[in-house]
Amino acid sequence: MTSSPVTSPMTSPLDTPGATPMMAQYIEIKAANPDCLLFYRMGDFYELFFEDAEIASRALGIVLTKRGKHGGADIPMCGVPVERSDDYLHRLIALGHRVAVCQQTEDPAEAKKRGPKSVVRREVTRLVTPGTLTEDRLLDPARANLLLAIGRRKVSDAREAYGLAAIDISTGRFALSEVEGAELAAAIARHEPREIVLSEAIHADPALARLWRDTRAAVVPLAAAELEPASAERRIREQFGVKTLDGFGSFSRAEIAAAGAALLYIERTQFGAKVPLSAPSREASGATLAIDAATRANLELTRTLSGERKGSLLDAIDRTVSAGGARLLAEHLAGPLTSLQKIARRHDAVAFLVEDGSLRAQLRDALKAAPDLARALSRLGLGRAGPRDLAALRGGLDAALAIAEGLGGAELPEGLARLVQRLDAADRDLATELGAALADDLPLHRRDGNFVREGYHPEIDEARLLGQDSRKVIAALQARYAEATGCRTLRIKHNNVLGYYIEVPQAVGEACLKGLMREFVHRQTMVDAMRFTSVELGELESKIAGASDRVLALEAQVFDGLSQRVMEQADRIADIADALSALDVAASHAELAVELDWTRPQLDESLAFAIQGGRHPVVEAALRKAGEAFIANACDLSGEEAGRIRLVTGPNMGGKSTFLRQNALVAVLAQMGAFVPARAAHLGLVDRLFSRVGAADDLARGHSTFMVEMVETAAILNQATRRSLVVLDEIGRGTATFDGLSIAWACLEHLHEKNGCRALFATHFHELTALSKRLPRLDNATLKVAEHRGDVVFLHEVVPGVAERSYGLQVARLAGLPASVVARAGTILKGLETSERERPARARIDDLPLFASLSEIAPPPPEPAAPEPDDTLGRLLDTIDPDSLTPREALDALYRLKAERTGGSRG
Ligand code: ATP
Repeated sequence: MTSSPVTSPMTSPLDTPGATPMMAQYIEIKAANPDCLLFYRMGDFYELFFEDAEIASRALGIVLTKRGKHGGADIPMCGVPVERSDDYLHRLIALGHRVAVCQQTEDPAEAKKRGPKSVVRREVTRLVTPGTLTEDRLLDPARANLLLAIGRRKVSDAREAYGLAAIDISTGRFALSEVEGAELAAAIARHEPREIVLSEAIHADPALARLWRDTRAAVVPLAAAELEPASAERRIREQFGVKTLDGFGSFSRAEIAAAGAALLYIERTQFGAKVPLSAPSREASGATLAIDAATRANLELTRTLSGERKGSLLDAIDRTVSAGGARLLAEHLAGPLTSLQKIARRHDAVAFLVEDGSLRAQLRDALKAAPDLARALSRLGLGRAGPRDLAALRGGLDAALAIAEGLGGAELPEGLARLVQRLDAADRDLATELGAALADDLPLHRRDGNFVREGYHPEIDEARLLGQDSRKVIAALQARYAEATGCRTLRIKHNNVLGYYIEVPQAVGEACLKGLMREFVHRQTMVDAMRFTSVELGELESKIAGASDRVLALEAQVFDGLSQRVMEQADRIADIADALSALDVAASHAELAVELDWTRPQLDESLAFAIQGGRHPVVEAALRKAGEAFIANACDLSGEEAGRIRLVTGPNMGGKSTFLRQNALVAVLAQMGAFVPARAAHLGLVDRLFSRVGAADDLARGHSTFMVEMVETAAILNQATRRSLVVLDEIGRGTATFDGLSIAWACLEHLHEKNGCRALFATHFHELTALSKRLPRLDNATLKVAEHRGDVVFLHEVVPGVAERSYGLQVARLAGLPASVVARAGTILKGLETSERERPARARIDDLPLFASLSEIAPPPPEPAAPEPDDTLGRLLDTIDPDSLTPREALDALYRLKAERTGGSRG
């Protein structure tokens, strides 16, 4: 998605002459934010006008009204209540819109002082965009919300490198990396950004146009003039308050350009609010297993092909109990590691927690109680936090301290010990202070007040008492007035328009007006009641208001003080949040391994790939739900001399795709630091993983099915190294049989001779199995089936050898193809097979059989001939009038017809 669909550009209807002062102000602000929907604050509503109103009313299903005229035409308008604006924002952002929030920045009373026609001053205080969200209600707790900025540098005349700055302002995460041009698409797919910021030049590069068209992210191009290298560096220095960037490590020009663009965009959207970010971490190139976008999609790592989390690998393996843990798990899955040492550290932690069940349970209980520290901290830093964020801080610190204490005595492996050490840094005094200061029931916003615990702040208690006393005095005043008027139903009430007022029934009100209560001043007459005020009530009111204002002001001071204390330790707390998440991920893997009997994979620098008893986690989970068992299968691609490539043939529905993918998933799981769904697994590190399915539809992207298949296959053949793992499922099926077979054949030879990678190749071109005679490192495997009275029974067991048939017809019948079509296909198949058998020895694989035999197949039987007009049966039928027949006559007629047809006669 590019920025264009989200725009609502200023068009000529918005010329200002003749506009009311308010409309003139609106138009000016809108002109400064042309590519955003403008939420224009008016009292308790955000109003939208003109085209924005039309877009929003359609998108949100809210009523489109009008307000006044502009240039002779009605002004379309719609509005959303400020109190519920988050929900509406959420929906607009999800649709890819950006919203400029325009607030009243002065008291309307002040504006009035300037003159009767003055408009309240308003300013845009924030641009709400998909990649810069911080509010829980706008965010998915289990997903990072990334803004990805992209910079570029020339490496040589022919090569370019791209710098990536991935920032999640909801947690403060800030990571920089650089990739080669060919890897840019894969890197974007890995990050799954919500929004991409880049220079106009990169955006306009025709070689990259497809990237911006295909991404789910909103894409925002920035003008070159704003992205000067010098200003990029200055922005980074200013963000972190440093004189030089040396302390953070060394960054490439492309990385600095990316970081500068990201910070510029944040500055622009947050209107000066300082976003707390962690110091930029730099990821070395090649540090993660390269998985391109098609492979990610095809293996359904973090979402299914239809875009859902449910049904993905991530969903199947997620046993985390905290939001931060869930986010980190997704990050690990998106970027499995390539460093043996780092992977081993993760595996050690998981192994320890697998062994010690009670410690794992204790850890998970403590983590469950830990709120989302990282996001609460970020909101505090941005000045957008409420009392519940402070409570989250306290909860997080408490959990960290409890875990540090619980695990402190244990003999931990190095990785776990380091994490626990980081938790130890939690400031107990701060946690205690927050606990003492915050009430048990907390409002959402600080402006709501009443969040400071009783007994924490003497002045607040005193002011609250005053407020409560005043209420008692009001109650006494009500009793006095009731007695004086003789009206037992007299009440003193409060609303936002009148403040405090006295309400009496109509008749009593009339009496008061006539002199019963001289001190009553009439305010309102209702249908059956009258409302009054009095000097005494007015005085009381200001006393109460003063007390509650004072309480609010004091509570705000407490809030600010506590926030400041928290922010003084922001880095330390962010680190604690990261450590808690990492513990949650390790415990999640351990829980999963115990629950589903997964094992620790053995990883090394070899080129081994030996899996025993491997399973597909998602298919297995689905079968388990249906009460069916998954058949585990071994896979060995380790051989230097043989078996590096496995050619899998077998029946449709036999389990080829499942087998292929499960092995790819084992590699991903192993390198992300998880245990694997297998009885044993020995894997040599994989540098790149490729997975393709022939004939995947991609019409929406303007590519024919076969073109996509070939583009993706080309990428594999060009990029796979000896260390890569390639999984190809039915490559070549999207074209004519001979073309497809030839391509599949040549690809296999290329993988075998040139790439030398470990590969699994599933196909229905059984002719290819003969290649194993010529290609020493190619072995055949097949999925076992049994036949029972013409029906096929899938055993889902992978065994060495070649499939004799694909059982396509049986599967077609199971799928409900019309019986006549299945029968006809059977005849054709028999003809093809017979002619094939009778053909003189055709064992040479470069002699392709198939349609040569077509002429030998009997043509389809002729359709039954239509009755001739003079045919006897037809004439007999013509004589029958079914409506006039008795049942007996009908039966007789039927017998006559039958007799005529068979040439016999009845009786
Ligand atoms: P096609 O050639 O038609 O694409 P396929 O051979 O690739 O078929 P899969 O799609 O892998 O077959 O599997 C079909 C179904 O068989 C799966 O959805 C699953 O229900 C079941 N299945 C596959 N593998 C196994 C297994 N190892 N154990 C149990 N059931 C399995």
